[in-house]
Amino acid sequence: MCGIVGYVGRAEAAPILLDGLRRLEYRGYDSAGIAIVDGDHVETRKCAGRIADLSKLMAENPAAGHYGISHTRWATHGKPTDQNAHPHFDESGKLALVHNGVIENYQQIKETLLQEHEHHFASETDSEVLAHLVGQIYDDSAVGVLDPRRHKSLLVEALRTALQQVIGTYGIALCHSDIPDFIVGARRGSPLVLGVGKDENFLASDVSAIVAYTRDAVYLNDFDLVAVERDKFEISSLGGERGNHSISKVEFTAEDIKKGDYPHYMLKEIFEQPGSVRDAMRGRLSLEECTAKLGGLNMTAAQLRDVGRVVLTGCGTALHAGMVGEYLIEQLAQIPTEVEFASEFRHRNTPMTRDTLVFAISQSGETADTLGALRESQRKGYRTLGICNNVASTIARESDGGVYMHAGPEIGVAATKSFTSQVVILNLIGLLLGRMRHLSTAEGTRLIEALESLPEKIEEVLKLSDTIKGIATKYAEATGILFFGRQLNFPVALEAALKMKEITYLYAEGHPSAELKHGIIALVKPELPSVFIAPDDAVFSKNLNNIEQVRARKGPIIAVTTESGAVRLKGIADDIILVPDAHDIAMPILTVIPLQLFAYHLAVALGRDVDKPRNLAKSVTVE
Ligand code: GLU
Repeated sequence: MCGIVGYVGRAEAAPILLDGLRRLEYRGYDSAGIAIVDGDHVETRKCAGRIADLSKLMAENPAAGHYGISHTRWATHGKPTDQNAHPHFDESGKLALVHNGVIENYQQIKETLLQEHEHHFASETDSEVLAHLVGQIYDDSAVGVLDPRRHKSLLVEALRTALQQVIGTYGIALCHSDIPDFIVGARRGSPLVLGVGKDENFLASDVSAIVAYTRDAVYLNDFDLVAVERDKFEISSLGGERGNHSISKVEFTAEDIKKGDYPHYMLKEIFEQPGSVRDAMRGRLSLEECTAKLGGLNMTAAQLRDVGRVVLTGCGTALHAGMVGEYLIEQLAQIPTEVEFASEFRHRNTPMTRDTLVFAISQSGETADTLGALRESQRKGYRTLGICNNVASTIARESDGGVYMHAGPEIGVAATKSFTSQVVILNLIGLLLGRMRHLSTAEGTRLIEALESLPEKIEEVLKLSDTIKGIATKYAEATGILFFGRQLNFPVALEAALKMKEITYLYAEGHPSAELKHGIIALVKPELPSVFIAPDDAVFSKNLNNIEQVRARKGPIIAVTTESGAVRLKGIADDIILVPDAHDIAMPILTVIPLQLFAYHLAVALGRDVDKPRNLAKSVTVE
């Protein structure tokens, strides 16, 4: 969600900052801006809209200088206008600041600054108040100090003092026109990473912004402050202690986050799924022991055997993967499992038993609600494991153990490959826990074979892209779409509806098929197609009944089914999407992919901006 890029070095800052912002576009934003220090003053350009609009402003009116900060905003306080776009300035106009997050007590701070110092504010944002507060503290402390080296530490101290007064979350970068070649960053709740270059250093909300320049990164922790110069940096904590951080190698390259020949990241990532699914299980299956091997759980066999209850928590797509996980873990390991919205779980008093194992599922590992759920669960003493894609993320670092997805960077705002990787991992967890209980070697072997055959079957499904495009185009006039599924395919219905809403903006809902007759059937009409996820499994004939009920009311029907199901649906469904047959546990992966493609092609047919859907952010770092 939203983003920060900062630069200090010998090169011109503007192209680097703009390029970094472009690479953060996928996170979602509504305005953007840049501040560059040019000699004795700060040049700033900012506007509501796209990075392309900001680039235009910069081209018309260039800003020169070798250090600066930049921002993409996802408005929380004040409309997305030019005025509210970051950077914001302090009262002196010399200090520029960009901020991700929310300053909860900004009103109170603003009142004090207005009353005691007669400050003037130019925007409605909480962030501007923080710029004024830091600036005020700095100006008070720098009076009469002539030594420029001391100005640097005074600026860091001013930020530290200001942040000690702040309630809320932040990723921050700031610069000051009196202090050359110096930028300062801080984080709490919003990610911030330092990129270490040769004679140049960077700040960014996520390494993809800077990986083209350096692969050496220092991932800051909450409550870290960092003072950055061309050839050095210094990390300290909010409390003032010196930090001791190591430099890690970013595990992907700039090449990995290119679209290649694909028109959209989303399509590229859909097509990456044979590989990402393979990577999610690579080295984690043992045919000899007919089980999964998950070393990162940091739990002994005895501890795993003692798990009496599982809670899976996440938001959006990760929550839907968790819902598949609920079926899987209960089916394979017979352990009572619940799925909780992370945002609800963290604030309610869910009764838990001491033998409960909690999983926090988040692609980015930075989702604020999921992180909140993880911390709440740990506070209460429950072992909490992460299922994340981003290895250096906060959830990955704070959890007691976990399983990485290894799906590679996911740039498309609408999550695709992370869902299938999460489902694979939940399968592995179900298999592991099941094999420690009652699951036989024969069933373990069948499950492993089912998982191992997935990449090839996904290749088959991907070949349907053009057929699905044809079906999607046919329904481009639809007023909305309903999705139905049963058992493991019910969460797929929810996920398919979410994809549809996210990128086509059409009204879409997912339901268990049998719920149709309990109310939803009132919506059925010729303009509202229903998609049934109905492979020929144990509940196929039940699905068939529901399909007939829709057909009797002239609702168009699209069925995602297997070969034998298709035979029985001939003449009943208007359109059939044929997926390869597979074990039940593997089916959600094969049924969701055609529906990712369906949403994608429909969005393209409607002329939507697939990779930058309106109002959405990729990794939701606010509550
Ligand atoms: N709360 C700030 C604003 O509304 C920052 C939002 C963001 O994270 O981009 O301007």
